[in-house]
Amino acid sequence: MLKINEIYASIQGESSHTGLPCIFIRLTGCNLRCTWCDTAYAFHKGDDFTVEETIQKVESFSLPLVEITGGEPLMQEEVYPLIDKLLETGYRVMLETGGALPIDKVPEKVIKILDIKCPGSGEDKKNHLENLKFLAPHDEVKFVLLDRADYEWSRDLLKKLDLPSSIQILFSPVFDKLDLKDLSEWILEDRLSVRLQTQLHKVIWNKNATGV
Ligand code: SF4
Repeated sequence: MLKINEIYASIQGESSHTGLPCIFIRLTGCNLRCTWCDTAYAFHKGDDFTVEETIQKVESFSLPLVEITGGEPLMQEEVYPLIDKLLETGYRVMLETGGALPIDKVPEKVIKILDIKCPGSGEDKKNHLENLKFLAPHDEVKFVLLDRADYEWSRDLLKKLDLPSSIQILFSPVFDKLDLKDLSEWILEDRLSVRLQTQLHKVIWNKNATGV
């Protein structure tokens, strides 16, 4: 049984797939407590769904792209049969993970968005950097930045990691905390090969809205 906080269709607001209509499956529970978390409502609240019930709900939206998110979706073992069923049914599957749990069991076909937590989140000690070995060329690594210190930390870590150029690197400011223009200028000054992103869904809808 899966514990699911919400299933809904929206516009993908993050990653290189930004702007595409997408179905979101938000699993309940998270092993982290980022200082700036915008989805604390998913820590405990949710309803029980079987994999089959989840697929039925997903099918009602008639869209080809699905993102499994949280919370931390990899906390629930049933996520793996759900992923298998979605892939088998022909969906393009994305998975966003906080980066503290191993991703080695996630099928390669899944487009993984792997967070690397910065110091401003208060959870940087939990980064499981071994995960970087399991990234496929279509996967993406996301840094959510609270301030200039987070920016410099991420920039310096990226130099050390030397990730393959096929991996998209996303730099996303904490909404309403770090100015998009400041971050843009820092990226340009340092000529960083990273992709600036904002949370498009928060620009389109209310920043506190859920289910969109
Ligand atoms: S990993 Fe995501 S859901 Fe969990 S505390 Fe951090 S921001 Fe919130």
